[in-house]
Amino acid sequence: MTVQTHGPGRVRSTEELKALADAAGVELADATAEEVVAWAGETFGGSLAVACSMAGDTVLPHLVSAVVPGVDVLFLDTGYHFIDTLVTRDALAEVIDARIVNVLPVQTVAEQDAQYGAKLHDREPALCCQLRKVEPIERELAGYEAWVTGIRREDNVLRAHARLVEWDATHQMVKVNPLAAWTFDDVITYAQTHGVPFNLLLTSGYPSIGCEPCTRPVAPGEDPRAGRWAGLAKTECGLHL
Ligand code: SF4
Repeated sequence: MTVQTHGPGRVRSTEELKALADAAGVELADATAEEVVAWAGETFGGSLAVACSMAGDTVLPHLVSAVVPGVDVLFLDTGYHFIDTLVTRDALAEVIDARIVNVLPVQTVAEQDAQYGAKLHDREPALCCQLRKVEPIERELAGYEAWVTGIRREDNVLRAHARLVEWDATHQMVKVNPLAAWTFDDVITYAQTHGVPFNLLLTSGYPSIGCEPCTRPVAPGEDPRAGRWAGLAKTECGLHL
């Protein structure tokens, strides 16, 4: 199956993009989220994409679309989302000026089941994430020069040193993390203040939300991401490594 992509393509060279990322990482180290987004919008225009999981990061497309109207918002439509997540996506699309792009895996869940057997996520979650998240987002990001993510330093130790702007060596593009310094409470406060639709699972014991088969609620005081791939060594889907 041929999967459609949506980005305008890249104009700058890899070297130019890396130089931009390195310089902005220093210059904007103490900037606010809004300042970082403004810089990204001015610098990349239509070659800027926002990644949103429609979990704890709906404030991100809200922030970015206010500065870059019509910006592409990439949602990984894995086929395994909670219904709450899909409802959140549709509610958000109603209130922001952005193009929500449903990024699809090559195979439907039924086609994947036919090739690999049912519940690949229980047996080989790394392969399942590769097929349903990593490959689709890599394919889509190849059409943009920069992407904005909802990474926050408090998410886990792997993200503790995330910069507001950094070079993404994996995808060979600029990565903008305007919420890096935000806390979970900051996110909730912003969503409530600005009337941003947010995933109701967040206030039902799911501070970190992924695909339904791989997410469980966490107890008070637990690591917010402890409910992701619980019982397995896996802590990241591979998008931000
Ligand atoms: S989070 Fe689970 S269901 Fe979703 S792609 Fe990864 S392994 Fe598959």
